[in-house]
Amino acid sequence: MFFFFLSLPVQIEMMKKVVIVGSGAGGATVARELASFFDVMIIERGARVEGKDAFKCYANVPSAVKIMRAFCLGGTTVVSVGNGVRFHDEIAGIRLDYENVERDIGVHPLPDSLMGEGTRMIAESASDMGFDVERMPKFIAASKCIQDGRCAFGCSTSAKWTALNFVEHAEKCGASVITETVVEEIVVRGGEVKGVVARPSHSTNAKFIEADAVVLAAGALETPLLLQKAGLPASPDSLFTDTFITVGGVIPERTKKDARINFSREIPMGIFIQFENFILSPHFARDLPNALRRNGINARNSEVLGIMVKIKDEEKGVIRNGSVEKGVSAHDAEILAEGASIAGAILVNAGVLPGSLVSTSPRGAHPGGTAKIGVAVDRNLETEASGLFVADASLLPEAPGAPPILTIVALAKHAADVLKELC
Ligand SMILES: Cc1cc2nc3c(=O)[nH]c(=O)nc-3n(C[C@H](O)[C@H](O)[C@H](O)COP(=O)(O)OP(=O)(O)OC[C@H]3O[C@@H](n4cnc5c(N)ncnc54)[C@H](O)[C@@H]3O)c2cc1C
Repeated sequence: MFFFFLSLPVQIEMMKKVVIVGSGAGGATVARELASFFDVMIIERGARVEGKDAFKCYANVPSAVKIMRAFCLGGTTVVSVGNGVRFHDEIAGIRLDYENVERDIGVHPLPDSLMGEGTRMIAESASDMGFDVERMPKFIAASKCIQDGRCAFGCSTSAKWTALNFVEHAEKCGASVITETVVEEIVVRGGEVKGVVARPSHSTNAKFIEADAVVLAAGALETPLLLQKAGLPASPDSLFTDTFITVGGVIPERTKKDARINFSREIPMGIFIQFENFILSPHFARDLPNALRRNGINARNSEVLGIMVKIKDEEKGVIRNGSVEKGVSAHDAEILAEGASIAGAILVNAGVLPGSLVSTSPRGAHPGGTAKIGVAVDRNLETEASGLFVADASLLPEAPGAPPILTIVALAKHAADVLKELC
């Protein structure tokens, strides 16, 4: 007994400190996995916000393809639309344990109760034309979902899983969370990571925070910059974004099979059709009514049907001195055009007025590929600097052309497993 009391403080003192930079899909996962074993500190540049306010955290990046992301606790997952898709069984020899990830996040195919009438019409039209329509696996709890179509703005009822769930789990296990603080530098000396330099967003005073290990999970646009600043390799000139457009048009009242259709309030992307280089999925983009208006068509949101064309784009984007250049290559344009023509045909077959079809400008919501395995990190996801790991979308080898959260979480779990073994 006496012995136990004597040794307890010593054990606490010896707990290794892991600093995690960023709290999105990757960072929150590592925090959750390690919080019971290490002294974990999450440093996040964004604020802690309520689910319903997530849209205020968008920190989109302008370029020919507008790149979407969010800065807040939980990262870009707070504005996700809840799609949980597998796409690689393994990456660079790392087996991805999707079953575990799906159980932790709660992934299920979209149930009938959450399938809107507009989505059903698109599904029927596509099946009618011979396409193979699949239910989208979702991490949305049907019992809590109020079906207001605002997934990408933030969920007001916590029906949708976000990385905030993992952050809160980590906090319960003892992790500390510092928000509204930017990590400006990773400190590496003698080939080993020593900590980070971080600055509260509203201060000019940066301070050094010592760590035994650092996990970089600041997202694909920030992580390569921090690596390069530390003199470490990255792949900032192979950025992809899963570029997408949304094709849509007007469905006249008389064509509606069901007067309750209110597509803009449905759960987005409830089904999908997989092609070799792209997917099609029902999507109401807020830009569709604007695009229609520019063509002289005034349509209410409830009269619009749309389909997203999301492609595996070429990894030709470049991050340089903090600015991003990402365009649509000739190859990307060809795939977008092919997808758009099929999407248009499905919409017209569903009853959309052919003369009303419009498209939104290209955007990208899945930036990745900027700190690849084999370039920036080894198969342990460790950089050349011992103790410095990467665990975010930067690691992805190529554009998935599909939602990447499950894969990022699986890779982050791998990083956490390695850290548990090494330390
Ligand atoms: C509208 C939208 C809908 C989406 N829907 C889906 C979907 O349904 N399913 C899916 O699989 N994917 C979806 N995605 C993509 C998915 O959200 C991202 O791919 C994923 O969150 C990326 O994870 P990450 O860990 O790399 O980065 P993020 O989740 O973006 O996290 C990075 C974190 O690092 C923080 N950070 C950045 N720089 C610093 C710094 N210097 N210091 C401290 N903190 C820093 C950021 O604030 C952020 O919190 C969607 C994306 C968007 C934009």
